[in-house]
Amino acid sequence: MFGDAVVKQSDQYFQWINGKPERSEREFDVIDPSEGVAFASCPDASQEQLDRAVSSARHAQAAWRDAGFVERRRFLHAFADELAAQAEPLAALLTREQGKPIARALEEIQRSAGLLRALSALEVPTEVVRDDERGRVELRWRPLGVVGAITPWNVPIVLAISKIVQALYVGNTIVVKPSPYTPLTTLAMGEIANRVFPAGVLNVIAGGADCGRWMTEHPGIEKISFTGSVRTGKHVMASCASTLKRVTLELGGNDAAIVLGDVEPRAIAQQIFWAAFNNSGQVCMAIKRLYVHDSIYEEMVQALAEIAKSVVIGKGSDPSVTLGPLQNRMQYDIVMEILADARRQGARFVTGGHALDRPGNFIEPTILADVAEGVRVVDEEPFGPVLPVIRYTDLDDVIRRANATTFGLGSSVWSKDIKLAADVAGRLEAGTTWVNNHLSVEPGVPFGGIKQSGIGVEYSTLGLKAYLDVHVVKIPPIPVAV
Ligand code: NAD
Repeated sequence: MFGDAVVKQSDQYFQWINGKPERSEREFDVIDPSEGVAFASCPDASQEQLDRAVSSARHAQAAWRDAGFVERRRFLHAFADELAAQAEPLAALLTREQGKPIARALEEIQRSAGLLRALSALEVPTEVVRDDERGRVELRWRPLGVVGAITPWNVPIVLAISKIVQALYVGNTIVVKPSPYTPLTTLAMGEIANRVFPAGVLNVIAGGADCGRWMTEHPGIEKISFTGSVRTGKHVMASCASTLKRVTLELGGNDAAIVLGDVEPRAIAQQIFWAAFNNSGQVCMAIKRLYVHDSIYEEMVQALAEIAKSVVIGKGSDPSVTLGPLQNRMQYDIVMEILADARRQGARFVTGGHALDRPGNFIEPTILADVAEGVRVVDEEPFGPVLPVIRYTDLDDVIRRANATTFGLGSSVWSKDIKLAADVAGRLEAGTTWVNNHLSVEPGVPFGGIKQSGIGVEYSTLGLKAYLDVHVVKIPPIPVAV
């Protein structure tokens, strides 16, 4: 089978620099989060390897830029086909290192192939600002050069592929660095990519914060596209200032969902539950604060609790499992501290609240009631299987409370009255506000955060333009021949 060795588990894993596989002098362990033990070791890039990855990307960029949109689209489609053909072994590796249920891992790989096709179907034509007796003014879009992509551990492949397709399609080349918690599927993806693309177009290196910092400081990289925490995002932006790199920052969220009093709780409970607990709550735009009107509060809490009790927790490789472990011990510890704080502050634990008595980073899905602002689980981003359900009575008051945060990624409003819900949506401070939905993201629609949830957007032509510089060309009128 094509690329069979790529995704064999516990094999050696390679970085991809200038089209060739490379180990490194140093390595680090990759831990299976459902067992808590290392199952593979990963190369840890040296600064010299990063330098070579950047110079190979620079070297490859001119020909890649000149290949044009149609040719680049052909490459990206070929890559999508190969990725889709390898979906099953890639998904098995993703589940092993990330922990998510195998069906969700498969979905992530297939979605990635879909993104390669959909984003490379968009167009960024030259725009004519005016064309009159004073002449013609055009906005032409020109690639930046080399893009550095830095990704987190929660949805490693979709996030890497999003950056790859946007950067490459418009004519840049790229160096990708995944999180050291989940590097392997991205390295395996790198091998598949390097069977498709010309050498140097797509480089993948592995490493941690040091490697990330070398990238943000690197004079040979024109833009950093970063997805991760707010804290690291601030370091990235500060570090990029020294070379005035462009940045796209997709950071954390503390999304509020507001359920109005006219809703039938059981009709929306499944949707709400999975918008909060998908990937064990490790989703940037998951519902993290659920505001429910007093008139339906208890019924909503009970409907969610019933679902939480029916969830099957365990190793993602078991097809009956619907909720995997937390991806790493650091995140597990944060969630356990947040739960201890909620307990101290008198929150009602309707379900969960404990770790499972088994190896791995398993925490029960936890529904918290009688909890409000001032408790960590409401004020911070827990990034775990925990949902605080918060009571409200007054619509203006709940809108104020939903907005009283430095985050601004997503939010949602749930009601039978679509017009009212759309009005409330318009008053929420977020990059995206859904009505009767939460989480859905489409390649043709921009996605990004406001306030401290990020800078810039990904997806759509707006997202593509963030990987381009605008070039204003002013042409005087052509004299009429006499
Ligand atoms: P993180 O910020 O700890 O790490 C992200 C990446 O940055 C990793 O590859 C890491 O090695 C690298 N890094 C660490 N320090 C660095 C530095 N000083 N300079 C450059 N790079 C550095 O984030 P995480 O814990 O891996 O991911 C979880 C966070 O990501 C959550 O807050 C989540 O909400 C957010 N997230 C946001 C989106 C979005 O689209 N807005 C999507 C997914 C995840």
